[in-house]
Amino acid sequence: MKKPIIVQKFGGTSVGSIENMHLVAKHIIKAKDDGNQVVVVVSAMSGETNRLLGLAHQVDSVPTARELDVLLSAGEQVSMALVAMTLNKLGYAARSLTGGQANIVTDNQHNDATIKAIDTQAITDLLEQDQIVIVAGFQGVNENGDITTLGRGGSDTSAVTLAGALKADECQIFTDVDGVYTCDPRVVPGAKKLDVIDFPSMEEMARKGAKVLHLPCVRFAWKNQVPLRVLSTFDVNAGSLIKGETGTQPICGLALQRDLALVTVDHDSLAALTAQCQMLGIEVWNVIEKAEWAGVVIKHDACAKLDLVFSNKIRNSEQVSLLTKVGLQAPELKEQCCALLAANNIGVEHVSTTSQSLMLMLSPQNIDKAANILHEAYIDSQLFVAVEAKHACSG
Ligand code: ASP
Ligand code: MG
Repeated sequence: MKKPIIVQKFGGTSVGSIENMHLVAKHIIKAKDDGNQVVVVVSAMSGETNRLLGLAHQVDSVPTARELDVLLSAGEQVSMALVAMTLNKLGYAARSLTGGQANIVTDNQHNDATIKAIDTQAITDLLEQDQIVIVAGFQGVNENGDITTLGRGGSDTSAVTLAGALKADECQIFTDVDGVYTCDPRVVPGAKKLDVIDFPSMEEMARKGAKVLHLPCVRFAWKNQVPLRVLSTFDVNAGSLIKGETGTQPICGLALQRDLALVTVDHDSLAALTAQCQMLGIEVWNVIEKAEWAGVVIKHDACAKLDLVFSNKIRNSEQVSLLTKVGLQAPELKEQCCALLAANNIGVEHVSTTSQSLMLMLSPQNIDKAANILHEAYIDSQLFVAVEAKHACSG
């Protein structure tokens, strides 16, 4: 009988020291001893990618893109060899492979490449020889064989793409938190871990600022129906499983996005403003049209770039934050949420909805307080949700 294939990905903190690598090895060995074929994807040791970037910037403020990829990919190469050595030392056969050796082929977009194809033969050959395969995350090669990297945080994408190509039974993302929470626990201390979350809700959470998973990773797993599990290297609990198309929770969580700016113009300049953003590669989070003005929400650090070419048309730019409530019932709760926040002296500057989220634009100093208020009302006590549901039944 064919053994199940598990892909396990370990982030920078997990491989951050030799001591931690022994914890990593324990998880790998457990999966192997449980009768699985195990493919491991590793990040660079924590801080290493930033250290390498710092060196590059000492040489040149805009380093050559190709050479930067050669440099940054070295971080993951260090981890993969040390993890393989650790397993070998513990008596387990393991082999490390660079992105190129694993035949991960990307496009030519240095520093932000996209995986085009993976020929899994090299990996499956090793699995058949009963080896544990350790693959460097965040990297591939373009058609010329030049090393490319996938953009910051890209090891998650490597793992899930490999899992898809190998038709793995599960892709496990090990990190320093033990799962997906209803909100960032650093902001809302009472946030709860979700045992299971559906793909559409997870995608919306990731898109609106939940940092636990890289957005392309969630999208890829969803598209390819690869069950994803987020779990902690430093813990033994089962983490959070992301699978399926529909959720069971009326409200599943709150996502926070700071560091945004609302840039406003006169109505007749809106089309030019959005076109300009597109030309400059600036992501537009939201387009807003009010009676007196129109505007876009963009990352705050993109403002300077936009200012260079568009400053004469810009009326105002101010820092804002977004608090997004995700769940099937979220859009219906628009008026109620605004009233609840208003009762706590928090003004909502703008509201927009999708089929399963409610996005509130707030001033940055209010976002933590607002998150705690909404979490308390809709997730801890579920009071408002219950009332709404009753209305829906009786109505
Ligand atoms: N080492 C890379 C980074 O720090 C990739 C990753 O960790 O996923 O962004
Ligand atoms: Mg990461």
